[in-house]
Amino acid sequence: MNQNFLKFVHAMVGEENATDDRAICASYSRDQHWHFVPARNPAYVVRPANKEEVKKVLMLANEEKIPVIPYSTGINVRGLTIPVHEGSILLDLSRMNRILEINPAMKTATVEPGVTFGMLLEKTKEYKLRPAFPDAPLTVSVLVNYYLRGIYQTAAADGHDHTLSYEMVLPNGEIIKTGSRSLSEMPYFRYGVGPDFTGVFCAHPGTCGVVTELTAKLYRLYDNKKVYFIGFDDVSASTKFIYNLMHDELAASIRLVDNQSWLKGICGTFDYRYEELPKFVLCMLVEGVDGIFEAKDKLVVEYIKESRGKVLEFPEEFKRTFEEESLGGAEKSCMVFGLRGNYHCIGFYGPLTLAARYYELHEATALEVGIPEDHVHFYLDPIYNFHGQLCYVELDIFYDGSDLEFGEKLRNYNEIQFQRLLDLGIYGWFRPYAGIIQPTVERIGYLAEVWKKFLKVLDPNEIMNRGKLF
Ligand SMILES: Cc1cc2nc3c(=O)[nH]c(=O)nc-3n(C[C@H](O)[C@H](O)[C@H](O)COP(=O)(O)OP(=O)(O)OC[C@H]3O[C@@H](n4cnc5c(N)ncnc54)[C@H](O)[C@@H]3O)c2cc1C
Repeated sequence: MNQNFLKFVHAMVGEENATDDRAICASYSRDQHWHFVPARNPAYVVRPANKEEVKKVLMLANEEKIPVIPYSTGINVRGLTIPVHEGSILLDLSRMNRILEINPAMKTATVEPGVTFGMLLEKTKEYKLRPAFPDAPLTVSVLVNYYLRGIYQTAAADGHDHTLSYEMVLPNGEIIKTGSRSLSEMPYFRYGVGPDFTGVFCAHPGTCGVVTELTAKLYRLYDNKKVYFIGFDDVSASTKFIYNLMHDELAASIRLVDNQSWLKGICGTFDYRYEELPKFVLCMLVEGVDGIFEAKDKLVVEYIKESRGKVLEFPEEFKRTFEEESLGGAEKSCMVFGLRGNYHCIGFYGPLTLAARYYELHEATALEVGIPEDHVHFYLDPIYNFHGQLCYVELDIFYDGSDLEFGEKLRNYNEIQFQRLLDLGIYGWFRPYAGIIQPTVERIGYLAEVWKKFLKVLDPNEIMNRGKLF
């Protein structure tokens, strides 16, 4: 594109923070989801230092109708920051990495896009508080993780909706503030004036603007903790037990996983006889203040007995890592790639009552498209103790990313599985994966039209990063 454009941007952000250098642009051109989202260079990489600079760059891009891809830490592993269009601006927000406020009284943190879970935890720990952790490395952006979806799979004790309010710059330079933030300097309440705008702008299949600040809930860190690992031969054998734990709010964190992927890649070492474990392992953690902790633990022990699951003795390292993964941030998540080199998943929300059916479907579809059984893995994280028995479910496949034929099998798998999951019944998708939007909008009727019009109002020139999705 033209050098004039770059000259204008240099004047906005400084010469060293905007470039069309091919080598630098190429470093933003692909991630490990390349079987689904092919590599493409952005035309420019621009690194603003603050919201005023974001605003200026966006307004110019809007005027020139240049596509913009906001990028905060770029670790989404689903091709979400890979340009779809030629001539895009990659807006790297990692210089905006200030923790603007930790408010122990309100139990909130307000952060800029470049703040990672690791950075935030270091500060919140001083107040015996923590953010709600996704099962992601500590290096991902708190703001983006929460903005992409305000629900998550996190510790069961945290429930859902960790996002309270945020500030977003639109392509025309206007700034929208959601929740109580719109009316006052107090960003602590999600439901401010009118509808729940915090929710309305979250979780789009792409971005509507650039979020420059976000306020999220913080949770207590407790001293009393106990971890259990219980083995079950199949998914359905575990669901009554999970129901009891959730119903009585006993567990801080629960993960039902197959005996290989998550345990090996995240909690453990590779040097363990996983194949001798029961097929599924329920990892759970009890925590609380003195008195309540002991009472909860007593009930948990009773429910374990009633469940007929097998109590498993794991090495200390497993326990520690599971604790960290749930309530202290995941340091080992990247190890999941170590299983076979690459990791594919469909993540979605659905009720506990369908958990066993989801797993059956996963196995059946994988086998049908030629994916071997030992590549098929499962992860279930109960999130919410009542309405709809909300669970996050992940249908995982670990594979060798250099195997082109396997890539083809995965694409087949996705095409079939998206439809089948919609037929069986899910609450919603976890992330805007490439390929899910079409089958989904076909089923939501007029809402799809309203949704598209809504995006059109926010971004009439369609410059924001949603080309491949909507
Ligand atoms: C091994 C591994 C496992 C993971 N597992 C999980 C998991 O189980 N659960 C989970 O929640 N997460 C998980 N993640 C992380 C998750 O994918 C990322 O937190 C999330 O996608 C955001 O990625 P990011 O923070 O790097 O943002 P980016 O990659 O920078 O951006 C992601 C998307 O948000 C847009 N965006 C970026 N910044 C902004 C902004 N300021 N305003 C508006 N839009 C913006 C981008 O354009 C893009 O569409 C995992 C990551 C890894 C590497």
